[in-house]
Amino acid sequence: MSHEVVVVGGGIGGLTVAALLAARGTDVCVLERQSQVGGCVTNFETFEYQFEPTMGLYTCWGSGEAHQRIFSELPVEAPEARAVDQPVTRLSDGSEVAFASSNYVFEERLRQSFPECSEAAIEFYRQLSKIAEPLLQALRRVPDLPTASQRQRMYAFAPRVDRVRQLRRLKKRILDEELKNTSQRFREFIELQLRVFTAARLDDSAYLPSCALLHSVQQGLFAIRGGAANLAERLAESIQQSGGKVRLNSSVLRLSYDPSGKATGVDLLSGENLIATKAIVSNMTVWDTYGKLIGLQRTPPEIKKVLGGLSSPGAYLIHAGIDEDAANSLRSNHFLIANDSAQATEELIDPSRIGVAIAPEWDPRAPEGKRAATIMFSADVSQWFTFHSDVEEQEAKDQAALETGWAALHKRMPELGNAIEVIDTANPLTCYETTRRKLGMVGGIGLSPGLLEGQQLNHRTTLPNVFMVGDTVFPGAGIGAVSLGAFAVANEIAPR
Ligand SMILES: Cc1cc2nc3c(=O)[nH]c(=O)nc-3n(C[C@H](O)[C@H](O)[C@H](O)COP(=O)(O)OP(=O)(O)OC[C@H]3O[C@@H](n4cnc5c(N)ncnc54)[C@H](O)[C@@H]3O)c2cc1C
Repeated sequence: MSHEVVVVGGGIGGLTVAALLAARGTDVCVLERQSQVGGCVTNFETFEYQFEPTMGLYTCWGSGEAHQRIFSELPVEAPEARAVDQPVTRLSDGSEVAFASSNYVFEERLRQSFPECSEAAIEFYRQLSKIAEPLLQALRRVPDLPTASQRQRMYAFAPRVDRVRQLRRLKKRILDEELKNTSQRFREFIELQLRVFTAARLDDSAYLPSCALLHSVQQGLFAIRGGAANLAERLAESIQQSGGKVRLNSSVLRLSYDPSGKATGVDLLSGENLIATKAIVSNMTVWDTYGKLIGLQRTPPEIKKVLGGLSSPGAYLIHAGIDEDAANSLRSNHFLIANDSAQATEELIDPSRIGVAIAPEWDPRAPEGKRAATIMFSADVSQWFTFHSDVEEQEAKDQAALETGWAALHKRMPELGNAIEVIDTANPLTCYETTRRKLGMVGGIGLSPGLLEGQQLNHRTTLPNVFMVGDTVFPGAGIGAVSLGAFAVANEIAPR
């Protein structure tokens, strides 16, 4: 069997690149090991609930932004995405900071919330929007900016082409340095956003992508009806309508090579070999693309070194049902909570940062009178993947993590009281089973400046006809960054 392009993995990255290629007339086939598409965004369905395994907040859905550009090429409608109220941040001293898309209102709130450093905090956000706004505008003009040529970059920023140089200069800056004149509380406010949305640390986050993320959170994000899983399903439908194939339950083992060392296609677990005459796109993580697909023997030592130094945390999720009346009485459907007095129990999860995501009132994803909610913690994967661990031990770990997380949630959101009940949980072990991400590391790879600067890890691999898409090569603001990256790779394989 042969196709022009074979895509390994049906997450948002793989599906987006395949949908664009199929719509442009390329013969494309997606191979997904699970029985459904979506990867990290696959909903967990139980007892009439549909739980999103994410914060449920998405970037790049505004007018002229990436998703509109992508769906303008596809034969199917985009899922409904609505702008939603910004999250509320609850700091460890109990104070709350609400965002506002109007700069004037937001600056007033910063003044009230951070009297100890209000001018520095306002200046920080002013500088940040001076960088983020032209960057996001340029991305509207040239969505494949991350891989664009120098000429296209100039066009993206025209007539202010000097901005290309300015941005290049900013590439090495660390976010932490820009916060020097601000208070500990303000730093906590910024760190909370980074931790919940990208699992990144303040002292290891590049300034440039952090600006884009923080600006997007302030300006407002979007929720998708049915969750991002609905986006995955639309993309799969689009691939099929354009004549492409989506094969489920199809695990890929490795690339196949001809005697000269050129990648010719993929070997499936079933023993089948599928030939790719033009390109192979991996939606697996960078670790698995090199470690499994390309093979460690063919991975150059400098790449092995970079990969060895990369890691990301896992996630521990509590899926809960919340009474509709209680949800309606909250200030927002999304909370970012700092809980500095919390001690991690055996470090299974970190209860000092909590993300709370409640399904919107217009899409409750729950039985009558309830709404689905997902409570998120970061988890140290090494504590979950230990040798000789049996099912009983794993259940005991899950129970301990649940108790820690549930207590932390109630301590910091006492207003929830009895209006919320646990329905199920997901931990790094169960995440590994559903996504096959290395040791359950599901949070992308942060915003580390070394990583973004390095030339070794990008959408190209060491093989000229093998490309990568996904959040470990296009890190940043979740599926927004993944979709932009997939657009860039599609343009490289089959320019419009
Ligand atoms: C707790 C949490 C909250 C998040 N919240 C948000 C949010 O609010 N907003 C946002 O935008 N983003 C969020 N994200 C990030 C977002 O979900 C991910 O970045 C994105 O879904 C990753 O997509 P991907 O295409 O890179 O990879 P994946 O989703 O991992 O897709 C890879 C696919 O490849 C398949 N695969 C793997 N190995 C093989 C193989 N050998 N053969 C065939 N198929 C294979 C997998 O089954 C999977 O379907 C969150 C992530 C987490 C963990």
